[in-house]
This record gives sequence, C-alpha cells and structure tokens, in this order.
Amino acid sequence: MTSLGGIEAGGTKFVCAVGSGPGHIESIETFPTTNPAQTLDRTVDFFKKSSSSMDAIGIASFGPIDLHKSSRAYGRITTTPKPGWQNVDIVGRIGSALGLPVAFDTDVNGAALAEHRWGAAQHDDTFVYLTIGTGIGGGGMVGGKLIHGMLHPEMGHMPLPRDPELDPFPGICPYHGDCFEGLAAGPAIEARWGMRGEQLGQNHPAWELEAHYLALGLMNIITILSPSKLILGGGVMQQPNLFVLLRQEVQLLLNEYIQVPQLFEGMDEYIVPPALGNQTGVLGAIALAQDISH
Ligand code: ADP
Ligand code: ZN
Repeated sequence: MTSLGGIEAGGTKFVCAVGSGPGHIESIETFPTTNPAQTLDRTVDFFKKSSSSMDAIGIASFGPIDLHKSSRAYGRITTTPKPGWQNVDIVGRIGSALGLPVAFDTDVNGAALAEHRWGAAQHDDTFVYLTIGTGIGGGGMVGGKLIHGMLHPEMGHMPLPRDPELDPFPGICPYHGDCFEGLAAGPAIEARWGMRGEQLGQNHPAWELEAHYLALGLMNIITILSPSKLILGGGVMQQPNLFVLLRQEVQLLLNEYIQVPQLFEGMDEYIVPPALGNQTGVLGAIALAQDISH
C-alpha cells in the first residue's frame, strides 16, 4: 500500500502523520500551532525525516480557507482572527518544500471524509460532521460529495434564538455576538460561567443550556440538509452526559414533526461521536491525500 502524508492543521495544534488509514499510521507527531514560519518548518521537517516515500499530502485546515483552484488565494488561510495567520499560503509552502501534490480542504470536511471512508458514516451519503471545541465548525457530504459551494459551510456562525431572560450572556463571536459559536463553543462556556467546561460539575446548569443551543443548531442542520447521521467531535463533547441531554433536546425541539426511525428509537445511532476518536482529524487529511494519489 502506498504511503500518504496527512496534516491536521488546527488553530491550537498541528498533527502530522504518514500512513494509509486507521491501523496503518507509520509515524505521527503533534505540536502546538505557533507562528506560521515555525509551525510550517516543523511540519516540513517531519515529512522530510520520514523514511517512507509518499504519493501525496493532504491538509485539513482551520479556516476560513480559499478552496477555489482558479482563485489567486487558493491554498491560503484567509481572514482568520488568529494572529499572524492571515493569508498564509499553506498549500504553496508545503507543496514546494516537499515536491508533492497537495489536497486541501477544511478540517471538518477532512474529518467527515475519514468518517465516511472508515468510521461512523460508512453507510451515509448525506451527513454532517460538527466540531464543538475552541470554535464550532461543520462539514459533511451531500449525495456522497463533500460540501464546498460558494466557499465552504460556516455552520458555527448560524444565528440562534436566545432568550435574554434565561441567558443574559451576549455571546463572544467577534462578528456576530450570539451566533452558534458565540454561544456554545468552549470559550463561550468559559466566559459565561467563569470556568472552563472541564471544571464545571456534571450537574451544573451549563450543560442543559449547552444541550439546548447544540440542539437548536442541529435542528437547523436537520431541517435544511436532512442528514442521515450527525457526528459530533471536539473537546466540549467529551463532557459526560452531553450526548444524552442533546439527543433528548433534539427530540423535544423537533416535536415529532419528522417521522423517521432515526429520530425516535434510532437516536443513539443518529447523533454520535466520531468512530475514529482523536485520530479523525489526521486520518481526514490522509483521506484527502488518498483521493488525489491515483
Ligand atoms: P480545538 O478546537 O482547539 O481543536 P478542542 O476540540 O480540544 O480544541 O476543544 C477545546 C475546548 O473544549 C476548550 O474550550 C475546553 O474548555 C473544552 N473542553 C475540553 N474538555 C472538556 C470537557 N470534558 N467538558 C467540557 N468542555 C471541555
Ligand atoms: Zn459568529
């Protein structure tokens, strides 16, 4: 089997790996995302040290990114608020340093591709992968194709209804205040309650409110795309019980309007964590590389 390179380019950490799929990772390295020069040098060094010859590299990146091959900014991270990373030509830098073809997509589309190929969405051709971590991002497939469209989905920035009497916290999105990410990503939980999610007790009211916002977001996605599976990853979903609260709240909000078994007795298999666990991201990058390697 041929080897491929995968880069999960996250805003907090980079994960680089050489391999060909789950159980076939030859080498892997994780390091913090610092400034672009240092981070991309370290990435290039990792692959140059690898003893396997690679056919292609896949990059599953935080964004926003430019995915249009005809665009002058193709392969770049564009308007990110992350200091120093605006307009960084990640595809150009990696491709020219390693002399390999590079596949490029969002981190969440990469994760969706990996879950479709090897994980929880192997039998789904229309599904969504959502990450609830430092930010909220969504990717996925419609009709077996990764969703791109005009740019790429920005599900984390959908507006959600907020009752200021029940939740006076105005949200922390610098662009929209109380959008999905502004209300429900990890840093929003920390800002609202004055403590990180991992430190809040399991019975804290934070989790009921979190399940409510997540369910509103999922209800929008369900009603627009009719996905046959929803895969939720990211640090916040590590919270014990959150999946249980969330599945209940989705059923409550949908109010039995959509009559399919997935939303009733099949709920536990409908809203699920990634089957590939914490390797989903880097396996997504490898899956992207695989698709351009033959
Ligand atoms: P990133 O999005 O940067 O890749 P993660 O997906 O690990 O990182 O998400 C980090 C966020 O998840 C932080 O805001 C952190 O407080 C939150 N988090 C991590 N573990 C838990 C937990 N057990 N319960 C709730 N929130 C958590
Ligand atoms: Zn927003």
